[in-house]
Order: sequence, then C-alpha cells, then structure tokens
Amino acid sequence: MKIDEGNCTRCRSCIIYCPVSAIKTGENRVLIDQDLCVECGVCLKSGACKFDALHQPPLEWPRILRSQFSDPLISHPSTGIMGRGTAEMKTNDVTGRFRLGEVGFAIEMGRPGISTSMVDVEKVFKALIGEVEFEPLNPVTYLFDLEEGEFRDPRVRGERALSAIIECKTTEENGVRVLNILREVSEEIDTVFTLCVVNRCRDHEIPFKRVMEEEGFTPRINGKTNVGLGRPLA
Ligand code: SF4
Ligand code: SF4
Repeated sequence: MKIDEGNCTRCRSCIIYCPVSAIKTGENRVLIDQDLCVECGVCLKSGACKFDALHQPPLEWPRILRSQFSDPLISHPSTGIMGRGTAEMKTNDVTGRFRLGEVGFAIEMGRPGISTSMVDVEKVFKALIGEVEFEPLNPVTYLFDLEEGEFRDPRVRGERALSAIIECKTTEENGVRVLNILREVSEEIDTVFTLCVVNRCRDHEIPFKRVMEEEGFTPRINGKTNVGLGRPLA
C-alpha cells in the first residue's frame, strides 16, 4: 500500500486501521513502512481516507505473497483457496485426511498486531522435514522444496504476512517427537507461535491429549468439535 503525498492531508485517520502498525507519522508526513506492511488492504477498505490518498499499486512476485496470506478475500493461485490454510483442517469430515492413529498439526506463526516474517516460517518448515507429511493443498507447502525444506524461490525470505499456517500430520507414535521438535524450534521464532493438534476420539477419549499432558504440554480443548455430519470417513 502506498500514500500519495500530494493528496495526503496528514489527518492520521487511517493509522488506527492498520493491524501491524505500518502507517507512521514522520516529519510533516504520514508514511507506510513498506517492510512492515503486509498488503492486507484493510486501511483502503476501511474508507478512512477521505482524500483519495491511499492507493494500492499492482503487486508483483514475491511481494504479492503478502496479500495472498494477509487479505482473506484473495485466493492463492497455487491452490485456488482463500485464506491461510485449508477448510478440511478444521472439519476433517470432508476428506477424512486424519485417520485413526494419526495426529494432525496446524502451526500458525503471526497474528494481527504482530505478523510473521517468512524466514520464521522456513525455520519451522525445515525442522519438520522427514518427520511429517505436509498437506499438499496448503499454500505454505506449495512454496517449499520438500526435500531441502527451503523456499523454492529464496526471495520469499524477504516477505512478511499477517500469519502463515503449516499443516501436516504424522502417526501417533511419532507425534511426541514432532511435538518436541516444535517446542525447540518455537524458541527461535520472533512472533506468536500457535499450535493446533488434531486427533480422533477413540473409546471416548482423545488419545493424544493424554500423551501431550505427559510431555508437559497443556492442551486446551477449545477448538472445533466434529460431530461427523459430513461424508463418512474413508
Ligand atoms: S495494507 Fe494493511 S498492513 Fe499495509 S498499511 Fe494498509 S492496513 Fe497496514
Ligand atoms: S487518511 Fe488519507 S489523508 Fe489522512 S493521513 Fe491517511 S492517507 Fe493521509
């Protein structure tokens, strides 16, 4: 996002709408920190500017990734899906991708108010190589070389997003190992780190919840509960 300084009256009305505080006041001007701006479009869509000073120039690769991960109304060309993850991660009853005995992970870096650098996303992705099966429809997966765990285009490292979600799964047996890898790599992440775990109920309990508690984690069962109204699991 850019500000047309010829039109800007420095009224500051747009500043409060930016979720990452990228709009700043300088000496006699209001400007957008281009490194912090995640191209979410919120300032423009808010209609806060009555002087036609905010404008969105066409975004080119790799900067366009910022809007694809930060503006929920823009689809990822890699997957055709809007947003940062996949719908089935939340419901599991469309594809049944998480089978009995498996553990799914959604690892989110960043949130409104802080955002994430793609360097941090790469650190976590690389730590998981060889340990999990990455979700192929997830837009983060698409960016990576799955053997090296590095971005296929190194220029992606210079980008930021409101947040990015890695989706993957492994077996319950390997789940503890993955948890400990995530615990270790999370120490290197310079943003909010959120871990969602998916595990199917068996004999009226969630088997991996107990395993997590034994490992010193404090799982909070405050996510979505699937009552199985979708297509029967394969
Ligand atoms: S596009 Fe989003 S991140 Fe960039 S200045 Fe506007 S509100 Fe802030
Ligand atoms: S709302 Fe428009 S005129 Fe006011 S500071 Fe922001 S860009 Fe400038």
